[in-house]
Amino acid sequence: MSYWVYENWTAEDKAVVHRGDCGQCNDGHGCHKNIHGNKNGQWLGPYSALSLARAAADATRRAVRKDHRCTKWP
Ligand SMILES: [Zn+2]
Repeated sequence: MSYWVYENWTAEDKAVVHRGDCGQCNDGHGCHKNIHGNKNGQWLGPYSALSLARAAADATRRAVRKDHRCTKWP
């Protein structure tokens, strides 16, 4: 299992932790086209553990840091 952080600085100043198999993450490709080079945000990762992804989210110093619900999946 891999974990990713989506860092967004337009809609909301935030960093959200996702699992690689989350539909919104899709192993860092995201659900949006053209995510790379996108000025809205960027994916950080992959990280091999949830704790590492959370640490990376903290390191962004975004105002909001949280886990997406996918991180609670069994
Ligand atoms: Zn997710």
